[in-house]
Amino acid sequence: MRLSRGFIPTLKETPNEAQIVSHRLMLRAGLVRQTSAGIYAWLPLGLRVLRNIERIVREEQDRSGAQEILMPTIQPAELWRESGRYEDYGKEMLRIRDRHERDMLYGPTNEEMVTDLFRQAIKSYRELPQILYHIQWKFRDEVRPRFGVMRGREFLMKDAYSFDLDHDGAVTSYRKMMLAYMRTFQRLGLKAIPMEADTGPIGGDLSHEFIILAPTGESQVYFDAAFEEIDYLSAGAGGFSHEKPEDLARFFEVMTTHYAATDEKHDAARWDQVSADRKREGRGIEVGHIFYFGTKYTKSMNTAVAGPDGKPVHPEMGSYGIGVSRLVGAVIEASHDDAGIIWPDSIAPFRAAILNLKIGDAACDTMCEQLYAAFDGNALYDDRSDRPGAKFADADLMGHPWQIVVGPRGAAAGKVELKRRATGERLEIAPEETLKRVG
Ligand code: ATP
Ligand code: MG
Repeated sequence: MRLSRGFIPTLKETPNEAQIVSHRLMLRAGLVRQTSAGIYAWLPLGLRVLRNIERIVREEQDRSGAQEILMPTIQPAELWRESGRYEDYGKEMLRIRDRHERDMLYGPTNEEMVTDLFRQAIKSYRELPQILYHIQWKFRDEVRPRFGVMRGREFLMKDAYSFDLDHDGAVTSYRKMMLAYMRTFQRLGLKAIPMEADTGPIGGDLSHEFIILAPTGESQVYFDAAFEEIDYLSAGAGGFSHEKPEDLARFFEVMTTHYAATDEKHDAARWDQVSADRKREGRGIEVGHIFYFGTKYTKSMNTAVAGPDGKPVHPEMGSYGIGVSRLVGAVIEASHDDAGIIWPDSIAPFRAAILNLKIGDAACDTMCEQLYAAFDGNALYDDRSDRPGAKFADADLMGHPWQIVVGPRGAAAGKVELKRRATGERLEIAPEETLKRVG
C-alpha cells in the first residue's frame, strides 16, 4: 500500500473519549472508527490485524481437530425459548421482530443454534466426538461499552462447541481446546494465564479464563509466581499433542497445578497456602474463556444420540470463546511505548514500512520503488512528500515491526537504514538484504 493513497486517517491529537492506551492508539493510528456506542468500523490497517489474528486462531482450531462452520448472526427466538435462556439473558440481548412478527435476535453466543444443528445431523455415538467452531460477529448490549474494541457491543468472537458421549470425553475435548488456546496466545506474542473462573450465564462447573496482565484490565486476578517464571508455554504447549488423552492430561496438570484465579473464584483458604513471596495480584484482560457444562443444552433441547447399547444418550458439551476483536486492543495494551504500537511480527498489518525521506530524489525514488515491488504487498510505502520527522513519527505510531529508511546520502551509496521497531536497533545494509532480514 502507498501511504499517499491509503485510507489511514491518523490523528495528531489524542482523542479525549479514549481512556486507555490501546483505544487511543487504535484511533490515532487510524485502525478503527466508532460508528455508534460500542460499534466500530474497521479501516484497512486495523482490518489487516484483525484478519491476521483470525488466521492464527483458525489455524490452531483446525490443528486441534475442530471443524469450521459459519452460523448466522440473526437467530430465531424459538431456540432460546427451548433452552430457557430467552427470558434469562435479559437486556444484553438485542431482540428484533421481523415483518411477520416473528421474534428474532442478534446472537450474543451460539449454544442453542449449534445444538440444533447437531441434533438434526448426528444420530449415533459413533459420530462423536464433534467440535464445531465459527468466527462470527456477536452483539451484546453492554451497559457500559468502553475501552474501544475491548468492550464493544458488536464484536468478533471465535466460539467453538464440543459434543462428547460421556464426561471423560468432554474433559478431553476441554483440555484439547485449552492446548489450542495456549498455542494461539503464544503465537500472538501474548503471555496468557489460564485462571479458574466463574461460569456465568453459560452455566456449568468447569471453566477457565485466559488472562493477560495489564494495569487497565477489568478483572482483579491472583496467581502464583510460577506463571512468571517458567516458560510454561514452550515447556507445556510445545511438547504435547492434541491426540492422546494422556498427553492432554499432563498438559492440563502443568497448566493447573499452580494457583491462578479471577476475583469471582478467588479462594482465600487456598491462597493462604501460597507462600507470601510467590503471591502475585494484579489486573487482567480476559481474552478467552472455556466452559464445560455437560448436558445443560442437550437435555433442555431434547438432543440425544444412540449409545453403544442402543439407548439414547444426551451428549456432554463444552463451549470455548476467544475475543478476536478484543485481542487487537489487548495486544496493544501488552506491546506499545510512548511513540506508539509495537506489533508482534505474527499479526502486524505490514511487515515493514519503507520511508522515502526525499520524494523527487531520483536515487531515493528508484530504490524505494524497487523495495516496494520486492516486498510484494507486505510493505507500506510512505511516499508522501512530508518532512522526515512526520514519517518517522507515523511509522512508530503504526508500529510496523521494521522500518526501511531511504535517504539521499544512503541511496547514492547503495545503502538503506533498517530499524527494528521493538528495540530501536539500526543497521545500515544494502537494499537487497532487507527482504532476507525482515523475513
Ligand atoms: P466479560 O466477562 O469480559 O464480559 P464474558 O465472560 O461475558 O466477557 P464470554 O461469553 O466468555 O465473555 O465470551 C468469550 C470472549 O469474548 C471473552 O473471553 C472476551 O474475550 C470476548 N468478549 C466478551 N464480551 C466482549 C465485548 N463486549 N467486547 C469484546 N469482546 C468481548
Ligand atoms: Mg467470560
